[in-house]
Amino acid sequence: MRIFKFGGASVKDADGVKNLYKVLSQTGYKDTIILVSAMGKMTNSFEELVNFYFNDNSKTLIHLKSIKNFHQNIINSLFDKNKESVTLSLKNNLYELEKFFNESNSKNYSFVYDQVVSYGEILSTTIIFSYLKIKGLDISFLDARKCIKTDNYYRDSNLDWDLTVKKIKKQIKKGRSYVTQGFIGSDNKGNTTTLGREGSDYSASIFAYSLDAKDVTIWKDVPGVLNADPRFFSDTTLLTNISYSEAIELAFYGASVIHPKTLQPLQRKDIPLYVKSFLNPNMNGTTVSREIKIKPMIPCFIIKPNQTLLKLSSLDFSFIVEKNISEIFELLHKFQMKVDMIQNSAISFSVCVNNKYGRLRDLVKQLNTKFKVEVNENVDLHTVRHFDQKAIDKIKNNGKKILLEQRTNQVVQFVTI
Ligand code: ADP
Ligand code: ASP
Ligand code: MG
Repeated sequence: MRIFKFGGASVKDADGVKNLYKVLSQTGYKDTIILVSAMGKMTNSFEELVNFYFNDNSKTLIHLKSIKNFHQNIINSLFDKNKESVTLSLKNNLYELEKFFNESNSKNYSFVYDQVVSYGEILSTTIIFSYLKIKGLDISFLDARKCIKTDNYYRDSNLDWDLTVKKIKKQIKKGRSYVTQGFIGSDNKGNTTTLGREGSDYSASIFAYSLDAKDVTIWKDVPGVLNADPRFFSDTTLLTNISYSEAIELAFYGASVIHPKTLQPLQRKDIPLYVKSFLNPNMNGTTVSREIKIKPMIPCFIIKPNQTLLKLSSLDFSFIVEKNISEIFELLHKFQMKVDMIQNSAISFSVCVNNKYGRLRDLVKQLNTKFKVEVNENVDLHTVRHFDQKAIDKIKNNGKKILLEQRTNQVVQFVTI
């Protein structure tokens, strides 16, 4: 079995869907699970929808209409005959969603988020599945929520591995091919859950692990894993080979090309991961496997923009010791902060966090009751793996003020503003 993952960028419009079919025609699609994300930036759009629902409800239905139009336009470009039945699926799904808005009285933002945002994946896979069918592919539709079983830590759910492996093995028949969703799962009550933003790479690796897949291919708008994000650096180099551990490190520090949770399950079963261009499916791209640490061996630059640096010190000039540190971490967890970097001295504790879930204000309020808190928002976290002096100079001379610096053998990090 092979696993293909197509992200939002690959199916951002009708041409993207046609290209997906072209990729499958070139690579073959037998015995393959085709995992797809929401189309283009639809996950962001569904996030806005949830925000309207909670904060400005009069705009909910108008926004839902724009989501409908986006998908309807893609359907109109893709289908000629059969248009009616795909349009009906779109309408039915959105009717269900509207019903949820009318009937739900949940105040749990994260719960509502998962019930709503998951429609991005449901709609994209419904459309893509129908398109592949009319193109004559012998393929089945699988609702990933039947297989991917999680706890109810909504928006960042944790996988129940044993149950998930069982369910996947039961649902997937050898020799068949499937279209399914990345990113989404369900809890033991049957409510929809999500695995965290960009989580569909992780879904691909969950399927691969469960089925002892031959390989996983993530189809991207870049030639593979580069030594820096091309959005921020003009001269980048393709890394043709990296080891699992190297890729885990890069992803952990924020190389957004692979989701950090994706790699460990693959490493445990020695399943290679290919990161390839959906525009040039015949090019080799990057191979992530056990053998080669990194090729070519060059500095790798990772930027995490829009992070927050918190500097805490005790109110009475006492030391920051284990007890305070454990309190701080408890609060960071409670407010769903993702910690990027920490540094402590006798009387202060600095932590660079990703305020992913918008809960910084509440966190700072609580921290203020126990510590003096200095907050720097919109800082950039730069990480360079395999750095040399030239790489350090490149960051130091970019005109920004350095707030924090940390170095180990392989890695140097800077927080800049
Ligand atoms: P998807 O459509 O699968 O969600 P993403 O947009 O999440 O794709 O990921 C692809 C993007 O990741 C690229 O367009 C690129 O801007 C960015 N990126 C960040 N770091 C790297 C890197 N080291 N190598 C390649 N691309 C990177
Ligand atoms: N659609 C989700 C997101 O944009 C998951 C993914 O694409 O990986 O975050
Ligand atoms: Mg993505």
